[in-house]
Amino acid sequence: MKKHNFSAGPCILPQEVLKKAAEAVVNYNDINLSLIEISHRSKEFIAIMEEARSLVKELLNLPNGYSVLFLQGGASLEFLMTAYNLLKVNGKAAYLDTGTWSSKALKEAKLLGDIEVIASSKDKGYNYIPKNYEIPSAIDYLHCTSNNTIFGTQIKEFPKTDSLLVCDMSSDIFSRQLDFSQFDLVYAGAQKNMGPAGTTLVIVKDEILGKTNRKIPSMLDYQVHIQKDSMFNTPPVFAVYVSMLTLQWLKNLGGVAAIEKINKQKAELLYNEIDRNPLFEGFANKEDRSVMNVTFNLTNEEAHKETFDTLWNNAGINGLKGHRSVGGYRASIYNAMPIESVQVLVDVMKQLEKQA
Ligand SMILES: *Cc1c(COP(=O)(O)O)cnc(C)c1O
Repeated sequence: MKKHNFSAGPCILPQEVLKKAAEAVVNYNDINLSLIEISHRSKEFIAIMEEARSLVKELLNLPNGYSVLFLQGGASLEFLMTAYNLLKVNGKAAYLDTGTWSSKALKEAKLLGDIEVIASSKDKGYNYIPKNYEIPSAIDYLHCTSNNTIFGTQIKEFPKTDSLLVCDMSSDIFSRQLDFSQFDLVYAGAQKNMGPAGTTLVIVKDEILGKTNRKIPSMLDYQVHIQKDSMFNTPPVFAVYVSMLTLQWLKNLGGVAAIEKINKQKAELLYNEIDRNPLFEGFANKEDRSVMNVTFNLTNEEAHKETFDTLWNNAGINGLKGHRSVGGYRASIYNAMPIESVQVLVDVMKQLEKQA
């Protein structure tokens, strides 16, 4: 039975990418060796790393002066690494607290300096994006999370600041066109919209590094990774390869502009049904709704939960349960999710209404 994978992460990848990845594990490019048993210094892998990095630059339309790295440790290590590289000794940084991931990011940064939470949506269970807050001027950087994977909110307009802007884009990178010149550092775990778990994409403006007077351990130092072309130590070869395949797939599809259109159609289809169907209600504030993670609830859980859960399970839908901290439902509709699968979910919601 065909499955419709709404999982939040790790999550859906394009079928053709999975097939190519599987082939490469057995016999990479007809060299009769597996991709994961050859040296990362081989010409084969060096070409993969180079192509992955250049596809990132091309697809995101990065201005000159930015480096692209594929690191390990997940977005969670970037919470610490960003502070290590940008927070001056006795320095100060500002954080927007828009959910679980933002809170975790600022918790790590607090180990290294003075962190001010300049706005938070915690008061309403993180169902909105704070606006009209003041940004202090004497800060080393401002950190924000573009898309709140767990709560289903997304920043539509990024804060304007004269200091550095750092953004965790783990769950919406490559999903919409953005002017990347407004960011100084962007990071994203691969497993939400780019590839398998195991690598983290970091995009950093070169000129901002090396200014903290802080001693940075080699593995946490962006400049070390840049100097070594993202191969300071053995890179996660498989994760980088599959990420490269996904980026090739995206390029062939027409790039970020093309996928942005499709993503909007998918989100509209689902949010329209949530708003129309009296048995459902959205979780996130309407104007802040995420195009990637759609969070919603049953208006009467007691009456309809069992039937709804049976219906979507029978339709081959997978991974629809909300995050354990929020409950309800979450449909993650990342780049690789076809609109046909969203339609299957909408049909199930309509069917519940008929049956109820
Ligand atoms: C999943 C996620 C993370 C954590 O990523 P790891 O790679 O598991 O460390 C951080 N930020 C956001 C926005 C996420 O969605």
